[in-house]
Amino acid sequence: MIKDPSLHKFDDRTELLAHRIFEYVLGRIRMAPPPLDGPLTQAELTAATGDMITSYGLGYDEAFRLFREVLAPACISSDHPRYLSFVPTAPSEAATLFDLVVSASSIYGDWWLEGAGAIHAENETLRWLAGLAGFPAGAGGTFISGGTSGNLAALTTARETWRRHHHEGRRTPLAIAAAGSAHSSVRLAAKVLDIDVIGVEGDERGRLTAGALRKTLDAMNAADGVEVFAVVASGGATNAGVVDDLAGAAEVCHERGMWLHVDAAYGGAALCSTIGRPLFAGIERADSFVIDPHKWLFSPFDCAALVYRQPGLARQALTQHAEYLETLEVNYEWNPSDFAIHMTRRVRGLPLWFSLASHGTAAYDRAVTHSILLAKEAARMIEATPCLQLVMEPELSVVLFRRLGWTPEQYQAWSDDVLARGLALVVPTVYNGETVLRFCFVNPLTTSDDVQLILDALA
Ligand SMILES: *Cc1c(COP(=O)(O)O)cnc(C)c1O
Repeated sequence: MIKDPSLHKFDDRTELLAHRIFEYVLGRIRMAPPPLDGPLTQAELTAATGDMITSYGLGYDEAFRLFREVLAPACISSDHPRYLSFVPTAPSEAATLFDLVVSASSIYGDWWLEGAGAIHAENETLRWLAGLAGFPAGAGGTFISGGTSGNLAALTTARETWRRHHHEGRRTPLAIAAAGSAHSSVRLAAKVLDIDVIGVEGDERGRLTAGALRKTLDAMNAADGVEVFAVVASGGATNAGVVDDLAGAAEVCHERGMWLHVDAAYGGAALCSTIGRPLFAGIERADSFVIDPHKWLFSPFDCAALVYRQPGLARQALTQHAEYLETLEVNYEWNPSDFAIHMTRRVRGLPLWFSLASHGTAAYDRAVTHSILLAKEAARMIEATPCLQLVMEPELSVVLFRRLGWTPEQYQAWSDDVLARGLALVVPTVYNGETVLRFCFVNPLTTSDDVQLILDALA
């Protein structure tokens, strides 16, 4: 058998492609701002691309042209400074560039045997987050694709731990408790685990509180045999950006032997901000938390940090056993595969590690604090605009506000229009049954001028 170098070859054309790609990347990260862009329909895209997958191949030039000229412009740039919907992203230049290095390095991120150096760097980064949360030295976990996956892994670990300690062999119906403002992925995790979600009534801002949690649990206990083994508290509910009473939730969980998982996918970044951190008092008593660096810690997609107070419990619940893997368990220091529902894994924590190690944590404090302050400033600007009304004072970096007199259709039409004009992505949301507008700030390049531009477009 001779070698087949048709795919794996380095020739002049490969070198030229490398230069073109580096040039493209350089151009993209230099753009200030990148074009906002917007989606096309499936039919429009099919017409524009023609057949892309062929037996003969299009060649580098044509395939790359299709990406640059057709595909990329049909995707919204979520790092645009006026992309203020959902949760935007704002990867640092250092993190984006290092992602290329990760891609080129073929590092298998699941076992220490293969990924030791990279896993060490990831673990130091997780340790920084664990330290900010006040977790003990033995805490740890892994980087995973997102908060959704993190919530599922943490709740799986919580359930296994509960069964082992309390009810080996018994199959009482189990449930978790969370406020209605918990993220949809918490309900999805419960569906996968085939457990119930017991809704806890939120306070006037939708936050979970100790009082309401106790009341709900007491009512449950008096009723039927469902056992609540875990509480999910939000460290920044995505829709309103408010933080649950983590200290209160921790107190109740402690009293009743329940697991406390803090879903801080969006808001947990604020732990590194001097002014954001006090909102998280009590997180140090949680059993696990998840934070998405691809949201507010300036890492490219996709990157979430999952940390357990006692990682050994996750290892017991989640380690995969197979004959062909046995050698890896012998050679083990820290196998990230053991801490979530995954196996093969990109070392997706490295772009964050590189940027954090290069710039230092103080730069992260400043960058996150920027968005918290901007949210407060935007609130004042909204209050100063007669046709607008603030729904609530922002806690983190989400601002909810209404345009007086508008119907849901008018909100949507306005939102479509500002996107079509390339001005901004600001979509309506629903809060307490009412259609309102929502800003979510995470990009340190977003300024009050950007906000003013959008507010002017609402007048
Ligand atoms: C975004 C978000 C999630 C889901 O995270 P993904 O990374 O999109 O999977 C979960 N919880 C909260 C609070 C979020 O903001």
